[in-house]
Amino acid sequence: MKIVNLRATTVSVPLEAPLRHANGCHWGRFVRTIIEVETDNGLVGLGEMGGGGESAEAAIAALKTYVVGHDPARLEQLRFLIANPTASLYNNRTQLLAALEFACLDVLGQAWGVPVCDLLGGRLRDRVPFAAYLFFRYPNPRTGAGEVRTAEQVVAHARELQRLHGFRTHKLKAGVFPQDYELDVYRALAASLPGCSFRFDPNAVWSTEQAIRFGQAIEDLRNDYLEDPVYGLHGMRRTREMVRVPLATNTVVVNFEQLAANVLNTAVDVILLDTTFWGGIRACVKAAAVCETFQLGVAVHSSGELGIQLATMLHLGAVLPNLTFAADAHYHHLADDIIVGGPMRYVDGSIAVPDAPGLGVKLDRDKLGLYGEEYKRLGGYPYDQDPGRPGWSPLVPNDRWADPADGRPAGIPY
Ligand SMILES: [Mg+2]
Repeated sequence: MKIVNLRATTVSVPLEAPLRHANGCHWGRFVRTIIEVETDNGLVGLGEMGGGGESAEAAIAALKTYVVGHDPARLEQLRFLIANPTASLYNNRTQLLAALEFACLDVLGQAWGVPVCDLLGGRLRDRVPFAAYLFFRYPNPRTGAGEVRTAEQVVAHARELQRLHGFRTHKLKAGVFPQDYELDVYRALAASLPGCSFRFDPNAVWSTEQAIRFGQAIEDLRNDYLEDPVYGLHGMRRTREMVRVPLATNTVVVNFEQLAANVLNTAVDVILLDTTFWGGIRACVKAAAVCETFQLGVAVHSSGELGIQLATMLHLGAVLPNLTFAADAHYHHLADDIIVGGPMRYVDGSIAVPDAPGLGVKLDRDKLGLYGEEYKRLGGYPYDQDPGRPGWSPLVPNDRWADPADGRPAGIPY
């Protein structure tokens, strides 16, 4: 089997409302690049990548000459072809490699008649549990609905998501407002959903001393972990010495060098594996095996996804013996998807691992066209800018917080 063509299409798919985070905002939509790898036997494999609100179409298109003629089964060769580590100073292509790997695995599964999880060791579970992913949200600029800013709104949103999807784990994305305000919100959330577990992620914007203070103030709650309270392995290590809550990261352990450093001098308890950040599903499986050996926890990270990327997360979650935490996904904030059948459904807080050969999802060509046109109309957006605070940019550690009393909508062009 040989690859004969590579296509990339950028789409802009609406979210229910703009999602605020420590560095800015998802401006009411996800911009994702959909990758199609076509083979000489007529199969089409699907990949997907993000890019902080920007298209990756040109970067993917530039790799066409690399992959045309390549056997999609030679995945280790693909790793060195696209992302040789000694070439990465000039061309860091780890995320591009991931998108190509998804498509190659998809095409291999289709050719061999098995789901991708069967290429990765075989499923250990048929469903992957997910956490509710709670964000502070601006109101939808079209409808005015969907704002989440106050503790009452966070609790109401969490309860609604639990009612709709059956979540038993709830993650609060924070780092937007002053620490004491977010502490009050988190404690109100934990008090409102007895029997559930919780996780908190301020995206590494605090000082180490602030991280220690917050960590100690939540020790009595049922925390899965405190995620990236501070930026850098050494700040995480100092926090971990002082706080009796497991620490997790998707920020400072995202490659094997960092994983080795964390094993030799542990700073983080739980490694959040992102199929894009690590360079593919297979890299995550390898990293999970290292974590299993050294008895570090793992979970499945979400860097924003449509159904193709979600499928990679499901196949990963299906094969990890040491997946002891619910996975994260932004997915329930989406208003639509580009896969046949519409968005995948949550039942009892989990999503079924696809059974069909390959990734088990197919492109809805009408939706691809619709949201491709939407991208052409709107273009990208700066993920690390806040449309509600023009001219603002954060520091690390940050002290330029948003005002929790400010309920004005953000001026987002549509
Ligand atoms: Mg995180």
